[in-house]
Amino acid sequence: MLVLNATYEPINVCTVRRAAVLLLKAKAEVVEHGSWELRSENTSMARPVVIRLVTYVRVPRDTHQRKITRRAVFARDGWECQYCGARSQLTVDHVIPRSKGGGSTWENIVAACAPCNRRKGDQLPKQANMHPKRAPRVPHPQVFIHVASPHIPGAWKPWLPEAGVAEAA
Ligand SMILES: [Zn+2]
Repeated sequence: MLVLNATYEPINVCTVRRAAVLLLKAKAEVVEHGSWELRSENTSMARPVVIRLVTYVRVPRDTHQRKITRRAVFARDGWECQYCGARSQLTVDHVIPRSKGGGSTWENIVAACAPCNRRKGDQLPKQANMHPKRAPRVPHPQVFIHVASPHIPGAWKPWLPEAGVAEAA
């Protein structure tokens, strides 16, 4: 279930059960219906596939709310090594190595293929002359939608801007 903010910005993915609660409490409205019905003992409703929150919710953009996982790093970086563009043997690399004081933050972690990661080793980007293609940043909330739901249903696509998101390989 794709959840849109009141502004129609995609913010989250939730379970059918959670969506049903939001709809019953009138905290959300259905934007797109699925082709089959959701039934309980005495009611049925068209199964929602995209819902929109009635009131605007501030989306937390701080790193504590947005856990750094390998999948999320790879999704943000388009499943591409940020040094050579390879799409296989992906690992995560600390741009400033931990041994040199680099932190485990979104701004210091990129997807790197195993050979690049080995080549860079314990060196600073300048020493290794290896710089990430894109300066790493906290990803757009949409990246987490792709991580939460590797398969994106067709009905969601009109609501997910394409920019900055690569399909999972
Ligand atoms: Zn590489």
